[in-house]
Amino acid sequence: MRNLLASVDSGAAPPAVADATAMIAAAHSAAEEAARNADDVDRDAVFPHQAFAVLRDARLLGAMIPVAYGGGGASLETIAQVCRKLGEGCASTGMIYAMHQLQVACLVNHATGSTWHDAMLRQIASDQLLLASATSEESIGGALRTSGCAVNVEGEKFHLLKMAPTISYGAHADGMLVTARRHPDAAPSDQVLVSMLKPDFTLECLSGWDTLGMRGTCSNGFRLEARGRAEQVLPVPFGEIAEATMAPVSHILWASVWIGVAADAVQRAKTLFRSQARARPGSLPPSAVRVAEAVSILHMMEGRVELALAHHRLRHTGQNAGTPVAYALAAEMNTLKTSVSTLALEAVQIAMLVCGMAGYKQGTPYSLGRHLRDLWSAPLMINNDRILTNTANLLLADRSS
Ligand SMILES: Cc1cc2nc3c(=O)[nH]c(=O)nc-3n(C[C@H](O)[C@H](O)[C@H](O)COP(=O)(O)OP(=O)(O)OC[C@H]3O[C@@H](n4cnc5c(N)ncnc54)[C@H](O)[C@@H]3O)c2cc1C
Repeated sequence: MRNLLASVDSGAAPPAVADATAMIAAAHSAAEEAARNADDVDRDAVFPHQAFAVLRDARLLGAMIPVAYGGGGASLETIAQVCRKLGEGCASTGMIYAMHQLQVACLVNHATGSTWHDAMLRQIASDQLLLASATSEESIGGALRTSGCAVNVEGEKFHLLKMAPTISYGAHADGMLVTARRHPDAAPSDQVLVSMLKPDFTLECLSGWDTLGMRGTCSNGFRLEARGRAEQVLPVPFGEIAEATMAPVSHILWASVWIGVAADAVQRAKTLFRSQARARPGSLPPSAVRVAEAVSILHMMEGRVELALAHHRLRHTGQNAGTPVAYALAAEMNTLKTSVSTLALEAVQIAMLVCGMAGYKQGTPYSLGRHLRDLWSAPLMINNDRILTNTANLLLADRSS
């Protein structure tokens, strides 16, 4: 397996610090654009085109692709910062960007060296293509490590049909990574990941996306049909990709987006708190301890992401000393997801107590309804109960402590 972090960290052309700085600066501009459009994107449940135009102009869709393939060679740390910044402006924009980068990470870590995938990565970087993901399946739900559909390979060609209940921004994606059983007789857990670019696939919309939150992700249900070359199937089993990249990278990047959403809510609460303090000099507003509590939750979440990034980096650059063993590391990544998804919501609820009616009303500088609604997707996006069950099994298997 080639590894994104390893290739970025030890490759011939490591990213200059200035590149990371420039990427974060560009993310600030994209986040400002996302924030300007966030209420419209939410109200109308439309794809955040304006913010993605800025991201494309800044070449941030190819940010994590190695420089040798025409990308920016960014580290996961940098991408996590971009996700957080975008989440502050608009949760849907941040989540779409995070999901796209997750697909890129899977390709970089597990498919480079294959002629087809090398060309795909170059094209993503040069044309700033957007990749979506189809892992969930009707009748399977969010069980990532199980597929019902199967790849049919005949000679050099494949055919795949998947009934996907949720493909975020499917109608706006240029390409996709799709899980499926290895062949029609394979067991549900014997999965592969299939990559495709337009016009390899067609999507027939089967269900709408009129949801509580994350409305701009446009995560409709689709009948997905794909045809292409057998070499588009990634060369390693999906189980390996899920364990080494998909689970840890998704949990780190999703958590970063959720922290961004919560940070914006807490910032609104702090702004109101300061204006209350200015109005009555010499006395603390009654919401003071709530503001401090919300900020402490933010700091705790930030610490969790930093620890996860450090452990992931050490593990994948082969420096195993001092990092948790595989089962413990997987459990740590799972608890990152389950804890940040609930803590981010808690932080916004506390911010709501601080802002009171100004937070509860729509259209005020302190409105928090969108933040709360968006963050309610976090515990459900691969259900926390499902992840906690997996975590309990990992803890049983881990004999290291
Ligand atoms: C904003 C958003 C964007 C998404 N984008 C995509 C995407 O682009 N591509 C994609 O493939 N999917 C996507 N999904 C779907 C997601 O990945 C999960 O598949 C989906 O959230 C799970 O749906 P579910 O709750 O119906 O199903 P399940 O996970 O099957 O859960 C159904 C119910 O069963 C219970 N349950 C199930 N298993 C267990 C268990 N082991 N222990 C305890 N309880 C359990 C839970 O209470 C749960 O409510 C997205 C979801 C959201 C919210």
